[in-house]
Formats: sequence, structure tokens, C-alpha cells
Amino acid sequence: MAIETLNPATGELLTKYEAYGQSKIESILKAAVGAQKSWASQNIDQRATALAPMANLLRARVDEYALLMTTEMGKPISQSIAEVLKCATCVDHYVENGARYLQEGAVPTSAQRSGFRYLPLGVILGVMPWNYPFWQLLRFAIPTLIAGNGVVLKHASNVPGSALALEQLMLDTGLPEGLFSTVLIEGSGVIPLIHDNRIAGVSLTGSEGVGRRIGSEAGQALKPAVLELGGSDPFIVLADADVSAAAKAAATARTLNNGQSCIAAKRFIVVESAHDEFISEFVSALSALKVGDPTDPSTQLGPMARADLRNELHEQVLQTIQTGAKIALGAKVESGPGAFYPATVLTGVTPGMTGFDEELFGPAGVVVKASTTNDAISLANSSRYGLGSSIWTADVEQGLHLGAQLETGMVFVNDFVRSDPALPFGGVKASGYGREMGSHGILEFVNTQTIWVA
Ligand code: NAP
Repeated sequence: MAIETLNPATGELLTKYEAYGQSKIESILKAAVGAQKSWASQNIDQRATALAPMANLLRARVDEYALLMTTEMGKPISQSIAEVLKCATCVDHYVENGARYLQEGAVPTSAQRSGFRYLPLGVILGVMPWNYPFWQLLRFAIPTLIAGNGVVLKHASNVPGSALALEQLMLDTGLPEGLFSTVLIEGSGVIPLIHDNRIAGVSLTGSEGVGRRIGSEAGQALKPAVLELGGSDPFIVLADADVSAAAKAAATARTLNNGQSCIAAKRFIVVESAHDEFISEFVSALSALKVGDPTDPSTQLGPMARADLRNELHEQVLQTIQTGAKIALGAKVESGPGAFYPATVLTGVTPGMTGFDEELFGPAGVVVKASTTNDAISLANSSRYGLGSSIWTADVEQGLHLGAQLETGMVFVNDFVRSDPALPFGGVKASGYGREMGSHGILEFVNTQTIWVA
């Protein structure tokens, strides 16, 4: 079977890859187990030292990797460059802090000596999405490897070139052969891997539906899972906010990565007194974006990653309009090559409409009018998702206080939600469970071993 990739900006065939057969997968798993065992026998400092050169390799190859991502999934090239450089900072972060995060702890008890230490679990399966082909993988893999595990990567089927480049990057860094491997298989091939005795855990970044499937299979297999799933993040603008600053940030937050980010602001919940001004500034900021060829350094909005995803988004937009929403911008698919979708704003959106209830994974945002601050918080929480949230107010303490009422894994005051290698990242409710990055992320795939000496 072949895995084909298309350039989403032109619709042209890029490359055909032969999917891996059973015997190749067998030899990858066998090698991974052997490599992980000897890797785990090194101490944390040795492992961190071995990973350190990856940061400079990423920096040296930034243009090559950025173009690869842009060609495979359509991200504007300036954002692909930023992604590769951010990966380098993630490597630096864990090289500098990994040993501290994994330090043994002493706990006074009646024993002569007692406490805990962190041991690796084994080979961890990473099932990754196409939207940040390098970042999603490395933010999971770097801490997982430093903790002493091996990694088998099943990347999304539209970014096999990136998946193979990541495998080569690990080898060029000097990591032992087999410690990190890519398997080119379809999504359906993941389930047998979860049940394979040589796989000790699974980390998925992907959609809610696949999360439910992988979570239940990992549960059956009694293996730990981290699920980083979808979101419909609220972006709340209160009456005392700087509406103009909020609207400009909203335009960026909705269209970064061509609108295909789990933490993109998706529901813009605006208190009545700021509502009309917000819409007008939001629409004008979105209208000013430069749309087009994603390899052009000045492009701000490129194509979506695949035509079927664009068509799905348009269908969601149409459903929202059919149930009463009004178009403030966009919502029309232009003819022509590529999976382009215009920046779109729907207003008058309420719970029960598709645009409110479902994740819009593309450059379409919905504006929801709130009567009061409390109403805004309650609307924000009227979602089955709980990934990030952003709240805009002149009163930062009020923002933090209200943020504690938001059922989300992350809250940002007067900024849009973003990720940082030093901070935990993840969601609650249907946005999944577990955390990546920071000190929390490195502890997801370890055996916290209690020690007691009589
Ligand atoms: P997806 O369709 O769920 O795919 C994610 C991964 O799962 C891919 O590798 C895919 O492989 C694999 N997969 C597909 N069907 C599977 C199955 N039945 N069993 C096991 N694995 C399967 O998601 P996507 O379209 O790539 O990514 C978009 C979604 O990811 C959005 O919902 C977004 O919000 C979410 N996301 C979340 C975060 C976060 O940190 N919370 C970050 C980024 C994205 P194939 O490509 O071969 O189908």
C-alpha cells in the first residue's frame, strides 16, 4: 500500500511512500527494545548530553525543515521557521532542566532512608498530528527520551517526509540506532501496536474521536496514555478590556497555522458593551491578512492542510449559518487549486449551533454575545472541551480570579494561548488528559519507584 502526499497549496502530488509491512515493523520494535535497554542504563546527565547537539542541528537546518513542513501541510513559511527554532529551545530546556525534573526525592518516614526515584517505562508509542509536524513530536519525544525511554513514532499520513526527517535528525544527533524510529502506517495500524508487549505507553496528539479510541484501547491494555485532543477555546473580552488590542490578538489567535491549532481561539465571547467594536476591529484585522502562497515569507494565511478538511470546515460554517448565525466575513470557497479557505467570522452564535458546540479546525471564528461577566464565564464553560482560554480585562487580578472558574487546562490573561517548553500544556474534559512540557510533561512516562531502606 502507498501513502501519497499532496501539496495543499496546489493539489499536486508530492511523493508516494510505501507503507511498512509486518516484518519491517517487527524489526523496528525489536531494535527499539534493545536500544532502549542500553539507553536506560546511562544516567540522566549522559542522556541529556547525547541529546544536546540536536538543538544546533535544528538551527542549522531550519530552512530545509521549514520548507518540508510548508510543502507537506501548507503552513506559512515564516511560521514553519519559527516552529523549528522553537523545537531547538525545547531541546535546550530539557537538556538544562531534565536532571533537575527527574531528581530523586527523600521523604522522612520511620525507615532509615525512604523516598522515590523515576525510572523509564520502556518504548513509548507517539501518535502525532500533521498541524505542527516537528513541534508536536519533539515536545513529546525530548522529555520522554531524556527520561530513558525509547520512542516509536506513527506520524499523520500527510507528513511522512517530516516523520522520516525527524528519524534522521535523531540519528544525526548521535542517538543509538533504533532508539527512535518512525513507522509509516495508516491510523488503523496503531491499535495492534498499543497491544504489543514491547510498547509500554502511548501519547496521542489528535482529534477527540481518535482520542476516545486510543484511550479505550490503552485502558484495555492497562498502559498509560497521554491524550492531547481538540479544543474550542474561549477568548473572552470583558467590558473593561482594551478592545482594539484584543481584536488584533484575536485575528492572530484564530489564523496562526492557517487556523489549524488546537489552542487557537475559536469562540470569541464578548460582553455586550464591547461587542460591536470588537467585531468591527476583528473583521478589519482579518481582512488585512496577506493570503496566498505559503512559501512566500510575507504570507500570513495559506491553505488548509487537505481539501477534505477544508470541505468539512465549510460544512460546519454552513450549518452554523443555517441555524441563525450571520456572516461578518468570508464563508465562501473560492474556485481554484489548493485547499484555501478564507478568514471567516460568524456572529450571533449561541450554544446549540455547530460553530459553538464543535471544534472549527480552520480559519473560522464565531462571536458570541454575553450579557454580563458571569454570563461570559458560563458560556465559556458551556463546551465539552477544556483546553485553553484567554481572558481580556484591565483588571489582571480579576482576570486570574475568573480564570480559576474556567474549566480549561490553561488560562491566559490579556494574551492568546500559546505553548512554552517550560510550562505544562494540556487540557481537561474532552480535550484529553495528561500534560506535556515543563516538569509535568517529563513525568508522564516514568515509573515513580518508591524506595525504603530498613
Ligand atoms: P487525527 O485525525 O485524530 O489524527 C491524529 C493521529 O492519529 C494521526 O497520526 C492519525 O493517522 C492517527 N489516527 C487516525 N485514525 C486513527 C485510529 N483509528 N486509530 C489510531 N490512530 C489513528 O487528528 P489530525 O487531523 O491529525 O489533527 C487535528 C486534531 O488534533 C484536532 O482536533 C486538534 O485540535 C488536535 N490537536 C490537539 C493538540 C493538543 O495538544 N491538544 C495539538 C494539535 C492538534 P493518519 O493520519 O494516518 O490518519
